Amino acid sequence: MGGDAAETARRQHAGAILRVVRRCGGRGESWRIQDRILYQFSGNLTSKVDTRTVNDPIITVPNIQDRVTVDTGETLTDQNGNWSWPGADGDTFHPSPGQHCTVRNKAGSDMSITHFVVAGTPSNDLFDAATEFELAQTDTYRSVQQANSMLRTVYTTNNWLNDTSMGANVNINDACNAFWNGLSINMYRAGSYCNNMGRILDVVVHEYGHGVDQNLPGGAQDGGLGEYIGDQMAWLMTGDDRMGPYFFLGGSPVRDLDPRASPATAHRSSRCTIKARCSELSAGTSARTWWRTG
Ligand SMILES: [Zn+2]
Repeated sequence: MGGDAAETARRQHAGAILRVVRRCGGRGESWRIQDRILYQFSGNLTSKVDTRTVNDPIITVPNIQDRVTVDTGETLTDQNGNWSWPGADGDTFHPSPGQHCTVRNKAGSDMSITHFVVAGTPSNDLFDAATEFELAQTDTYRSVQQANSMLRTVYTTNNWLNDTSMGANVNINDACNAFWNGLSINMYRAGSYCNNMGRILDVVVHEYGHGVDQNLPGGAQDGGLGEYIGDQMAWLMTGDDRMGPYFFLGGSPVRDLDPRASPATAHRSSRCTIKARCSELSAGTSARTWWRTG
């Protein structure tokens, strides 16, 4: 009987608490829910880019791991370009250097978006790139971030891949080359016989590959191997042994990793070094292995 009395007391007590919550706490709960709805920013960030290279269709892709700054703080976009952040009406935001890549335009100011956002109303923003210098910025960001996303699935704890916003200088006032300088990738603008390097995914990924080579365990030990790593990354992403279609204005790639095509169709200029040839030879070996093993 004592147990029944205790159970009854518990039920009465719980009921009392429940009523108290409903009667007195209900308004508070309601306010908290309202706060969450009213004071919440969210949005989606996308860019127009060349599909892979110059003369490809212009497509819209999400800005992955891009940093969104609000007055009260900052957050990152996810793999679909979506973001959210708590805050009050009237705050401003602008996309700023991404988590893994900071694009710097050497032909003018960097592309950016700044405007008021209204809490509760998703802010869908597009880097509406159209010109050579604009597309070089959005293309380069896309190319680096896609390569980075791929590599981070393997190297989950590498500091450089996960926590460094590498510099990417685009539209440099020169033509027909790109390079890694130990800290950043650097892409030249279009010239008399080459297209803008920043607009060619393979070229951007190749240069990023030098950074990867330098920053993975072991470091950059051999120039030719470094050339190969960059090409291999691009090949993995495109499934195409041609490195950089439309590197040249007429549409030719800078080289071809297919040993059956190389050296017959691989371009040879003073800018194609022995290191590049090493890449072709290494990749050719990989390609033959690939085909033999199916
Ligand atoms: Zn290289």
